[in-house]
Amino acid sequence: MNDENRSDLKSLVPDLYGADVFNDSVMRERLPKSVYTKLRAAIEEGTAMDSAIADVVATAMKDWALEKGATHFSHWFQPMTGSTAEKHDAFISPKNDGTIMMEFSGEALIKGEPDASNFPSGGLRATFEARGYTAWDCTSPVFVKKDGENTTLFIPCAFCSYTGEALDAKTPLLRSMDVLNREAVRALRALGNTAVKRVTATLGAEQEYFLVDRRFVERRLDLMLTGRSLFGAPSPKGQEMEDQYFGTLPDRIGSFMADLNKQLWRLGVSAKTQHNEAAPGQYEVAPIYGTVNVATDWNQLMMETLQNVALRHGFVCLLHEKPFAGVNGSGKHNNWSISTDAGLNLLEPGLTPHDNVTFLVCLCAVVQAVSRYGKLLRAAVATPGNDYRLGANEAPPAIVSVFLGEQLTAIFEQLAKGGAGGGGPNVKDIFLGASTLPKLPKDMTDRNRTSPFAFTGNKFEFRMLGSSQSPAMANTVLNTIVAESLGEMADALEKSRDVAATARALCVAVAREHRRVIFNGNGYSESWRKEAARRGLPNIDNSVDSILTLLEKEGAGVLEKHGVLSGGELRSRVEIMLEHYVKTLNIEARTSLHIAQRQIVPAVVAFTGQVAEAVRANKAAGAKGVLAAGLLKKADALSDRLGKAVAALEKALAECGGEPDLVKKARFCRDRVLRDMNAVRASADELERIVDSRLWPLPSYAEMLFYR
Ligand code: ADP
Ligand code: MG
Repeated sequence: MNDENRSDLKSLVPDLYGADVFNDSVMRERLPKSVYTKLRAAIEEGTAMDSAIADVVATAMKDWALEKGATHFSHWFQPMTGSTAEKHDAFISPKNDGTIMMEFSGEALIKGEPDASNFPSGGLRATFEARGYTAWDCTSPVFVKKDGENTTLFIPCAFCSYTGEALDAKTPLLRSMDVLNREAVRALRALGNTAVKRVTATLGAEQEYFLVDRRFVERRLDLMLTGRSLFGAPSPKGQEMEDQYFGTLPDRIGSFMADLNKQLWRLGVSAKTQHNEAAPGQYEVAPIYGTVNVATDWNQLMMETLQNVALRHGFVCLLHEKPFAGVNGSGKHNNWSISTDAGLNLLEPGLTPHDNVTFLVCLCAVVQAVSRYGKLLRAAVATPGNDYRLGANEAPPAIVSVFLGEQLTAIFEQLAKGGAGGGGPNVKDIFLGASTLPKLPKDMTDRNRTSPFAFTGNKFEFRMLGSSQSPAMANTVLNTIVAESLGEMADALEKSRDVAATARALCVAVAREHRRVIFNGNGYSESWRKEAARRGLPNIDNSVDSILTLLEKEGAGVLEKHGVLSGGELRSRVEIMLEHYVKTLNIEARTSLHIAQRQIVPAVVAFTGQVAEAVRANKAAGAKGVLAAGLLKKADALSDRLGKAVAALEKALAECGGEPDLVKKARFCRDRVLRDMNAVRASADELERIVDSRLWPLPSYAEMLFYR
C-alpha cells in the first residue's frame, strides 16, 4: 500500500497504528470468548498460561500472520549480548501426499529450544548441555515484521538454561516486576487501598542517536566495526552555536523520521516525540510510555528500526554512546514510574503533595532505594561506551544523586527538621507546615538536566543509561530496590495501629537518613564532585570498577534476596560484562591499528615524501622554502610520534592477549590499551590537521557531522 496516495489520509495513522501487532482488538476478534478471557487474565494478572488454550491461540496467530504474508515464526529473545536474537522456523509441515500445510502448535508458541552454546552464559551453561529454552512472555504482544522480502511472526520470549537459570535480560526484569508488585501491593493495602490488585512499573525510554551519511561510513572502518570514530580531528565548527538542538529538520531527516514513525507505529511502538539533539547530526525519538517489560521490547524494536530505516535513506544510524569526540554523546533517558491496575500513578503528587501520604511513601521509598543502592544503579549502566559519557560535562556524572526540585525538597526538609525536634514531633504539623506550598507545576521539576536521577513531575527520569544499552538491567535494578524499600515500609505499616502516623514517621526517617542523596545543583560542576565525596556518595568513574561492585554482598545482595538474580546468575553477569568490556576494547584497538597502519601511515609517508621533494626542489631553485621546510619538520616529528604510539599499542594488545585473569585483563584494557589507543589517535589527529586533504584516507568530522 502506498500510504501517500491514500485518499483517506485522516485515518492513515490510526489505521497504521498496531497494524502488525496481534493486539487486544485482534485477539478479541479472532479468539473464542472463553480463550480470550483466559489469555487476558494471564496477561493482566500475570497468572500462568493454561496450556490447553495455547493451541487455539497459536492457530489464530498463524492465520493472522499468514494473511500478513508471514512464512515463518520466530521466538524473539534478549540474550546477554545487549541486542535481540531470533531463529526462524517455517510454518510448513509435510503431508503424506507430498504437499505441505501451514501449521503452528501451542507447544511451538510457548516453548522453543535454541542451541544456547553460542550465546554468552558467563559459565552458567555446562558445555555438555548446550540446550537453552525460550518461553513465551505473553504480556508482550506478538508481532509480524518484514525484513526485506522475509516476513516473520515474532514471539517475545524469555531465555533460560536447561537448569532454569536466566540467560537473558528479560527473565530478571519479569522477576523484578513480580517482586515490585508483591511489595507495593502490600504497602498500598497497609495504607488503606484495599482495592488495589496489581502494581506495575512503567517506562518511557527516550532514545538518542546520530545519523551519518552512509557513504562516509563506508570509508570508515572504525564506524563500521566499533560504532564510534577512533580517529578524527575536530571539525572547525562544532556544536558551539547551539543551533542544532530543537532546530528545524532538513528534508532528508524529515523523510527519514516520517518513515521511522510509520514503521514503529505499525509495530505498535507509539513513537511520539522527535527532535534534533544538541550535537550536529544527533536526534532523539521518544515513545509514549508502557509497562516496563513491553517498553523494553519497544526500545529494542526502536533501535533495530532506526538502523534499518536509516539504511534505506542512505544513512547509518549510530547508537554508540560517544561516536564523535568533542561533541555530545548519546544517552537513553529512562522515565520510570509505578502505577496500579486502576491507573493511579503512585508518583503523581496531586494538588497537595504534602498531604498525599501514598505519594510521599512511594517518593521516600524511591529516595531511600537510590541512596542505598546507588552503586547498583551505576553498575546497571556500566558499559565501555558509557565511560566516555558519564561525567564528561554533557551527561550526568558517575555520582548517583536525586533531584527533587524546589517544592519537594522543601517538603523533604520539613520532614527532616520536624522530626529532629525532640520529644516526639507533631507529625501532623510537619505536613501543615508545608501546606502553603502550591501545586507542583511540571516545569518546576524538570529544569535541571544535569541530574542523573531526577523527579520530573510524576515520574523519575534515570538519565545515566547509554544509548545503545537495553533498558532491561537498569529497570530490573530499579524495580527491585524500590520493592525492597516498599517492603520494609509495608512491614512497619502492617504492624502499626496508627497507619497515618507510622507512614509519616517512615518518611521522616527517610528524609533524615537519606538527605545526602538529594542534590538540586549543577551535577556537572567540580564543586559537586567534592561535595559528593564529603557526603560519602560513591563516584565510580569507570565501568570495570563499577561492574565489580556487583560482587559486593551488601549492595547486589538485594537482587539475590528477592530472587531476581541468584548468586550464580549475578556472577555470570559480571563475567559477561567484563568479557564484553575486554572484547570491545580489543576490537577497538585492533581496528585502530588497522586504520593507523594501513591507511594513515601510508598517507603520512606519501605526504612527507611529497613535502621532502618540494624542499629539495626549493633548494635547487634557490627559493627560501621556509613553509615547506617547516611543514616537513612538523610532519616528521608527528610521524615519529605516531610510529612509536602504534608500536606501543601493538605491544599492549599482545600483553593483553597473554593475560589469563579476566579482572586483570579488564583493568589492563582500561589502563593500558585505552591509553595507548588514545595516544595513536592524538598524533594521527594532529597529522590530519596538516596533511593534504586529498591524501587523507578518512572522511572528516566536518563531513560526517554536517552533511545531510
Ligand atoms: P522530556 O521533557 O524529558 O522530553 P517528557 O515529559 O516529554 O520528557 O516525557 C518523556 C518520556 O517520559 C516519554 O517517553 C513519556 O511517555 C514518558 N513518561 C511520561 N509519563 C510517564 C510515566 N508515568 N511513567 C513512565 N514514563 C512516563
Ligand atoms: Mg528527558
